[in-house]
Amino acid sequence: MKLINDYIKYIPASNDPLSADVFFIEGDKCTYIFDVGNNEQSLAEISKIDKDKVIILSHFHRDHIGNIEKLSYKELYLGSTTYEKVGQGSVVRDSVTINDGVRIDIMHCPSPHAKGSLIATVNNEYTFIGDLYYTKPDFDKNLAHMMLLALEKIDTKYFVISHEPKDNIIEKQGLLYKLIEYFK
Ligand SMILES: [Zn+2]
Repeated sequence: MKLINDYIKYIPASNDPLSADVFFIEGDKCTYIFDVGNNEQSLAEISKIDKDKVIILSHFHRDHIGNIEKLSYKELYLGSTTYEKVGQGSVVRDSVTINDGVRIDIMHCPSPHAKGSLIATVNNEYTFIGDLYYTKPDFDKNLAHMMLLALEKIDTKYFVISHEPKDNIIEKQGLLYKLIEYFK
């Protein structure tokens, strides 16, 4: 488990089995979990939480959602494409704001990586974006452009990305410049 600050921590991604980073945000009443991973460690850590659990799934890929069927929770937020795989939870079509000692804004974001992706901003400081910006060489340029516009509008200091053992917290403009270069 690694700490980001005194109320956000995470289990780093693993490669075998492929499992995304799992982020934990401590609220007053609930623990908010961004992606549930697909390995035993993530399942064990999530299962032992005493507080009510609110889960947010970034997108439908197995390494982000694999554990969901083995977990109980109070609320589950996901995008429409993820809902097609999981079959339960509340679909976020635009955005949802939660105030629980922390403020969490869950938003839909266009992404060439996966249809129906969600991102979550915590206290206008950290925005968790999952795999949103990983693309195949033949990525959809129009979607990439829409994603850039959406990310630009977000009131945040940092973006937090999955599957990066180092430098997974990137200052907002830094990430945007990197993406603009990459998508040229
Ligand atoms: Zn993915």
